[in-house]
Amino acid sequence: MELLSANLPTPLVPIVNEITKSAQISLYLKRDDLIHPLVSGNKWRKLKYSLLEAQHVGARSLLTFGGAYSNHLYALAAAGRALDLPTIGIVRGEELANLPFSSTLQFCKENGMQLVFVTRSEYKNKSDKNYLKFLSEAYNGPFIIPEGGTSLLAVKGVSEIVDELQAQLSQSVDYYAVAAGTGGTAAGILSRNQNVLSFSVLKGGAFLKSEILNLVDSTIKNDHLQLFTKYHFGGYGKWTPELLEFICDFKKDFDIQLEQVYTAKMLYGLFDLIITGYFKPQQTIVAIHTGGLQGLLKELT
Ligand SMILES: *Cc1c(COP(=O)(O)O)cnc(C)c1O
Repeated sequence: MELLSANLPTPLVPIVNEITKSAQISLYLKRDDLIHPLVSGNKWRKLKYSLLEAQHVGARSLLTFGGAYSNHLYALAAAGRALDLPTIGIVRGEELANLPFSSTLQFCKENGMQLVFVTRSEYKNKSDKNYLKFLSEAYNGPFIIPEGGTSLLAVKGVSEIVDELQAQLSQSVDYYAVAAGTGGTAAGILSRNQNVLSFSVLKGGAFLKSEILNLVDSTIKNDHLQLFTKYHFGGYGKWTPELLEFICDFKKDFDIQLEQVYTAKMLYGLFDLIITGYFKPQQTIVAIHTGGLQGLLKELT
């Protein structure tokens, strides 16, 4: 994406500690958090082809969906600004219009995004054909990007992580580990026939398995995908002191910042798998740091 230049390939750093040593595995962290200062991590990869397509069709604005803490809304506001395309955000929760904005919504507003607050029941129509038609007419034919940026174009963008890795690492990768919110990122890697360990950050995230599989070709074998649902720490946007302590320890040990919504839950779960003997000696695991650091709790900075 020329107009949204990124730092590619993103660095791949080995993560070595007593846990990885005693399990005799190689663990790497792919630093997609460093891909772009504002359109961070997987959001850059997920938006890449949607933005190119929007330019290609001569879109005059971009419309998408998200909650008050959505990293996707934040990324799209920044991308729209950089590409000089007006953005419209359909935000879940009409009550938010009259409350102090979250820092994410504040950023979106400052970057010129038109925020439209809708009720939770209206928001549920976010993929309904008639609702999309209604929005298209109401907002003068914007290029519509689904919630979380997740679409087949997003899958294509994320799949490029696999090419990057193959150029960066001489050994083959046994497993990729990613956090899953909508599952688009997991689908991107799975689409290249890689073994994916996905960690739901939502409570009751079991439905994500079929969501992920629906985004990839039916020739991809189900058994390439593992979904772990117990590392949600209370649910989306929730955390426990234990998770925050994990973030602090990780920073102390590796000088890498994680955040509490996605990446910390994934890495906590991954270390739990390593400790409990999930992997065989000599296996190689690549975890993706999907970014999201603008949503980091202030007390952790
Ligand atoms: C959005 C996001 C995810 C979740 O990605 P999905 O493709 O929706 O599963 C993971 N990590 C970070 C930091 C994110 O912002």
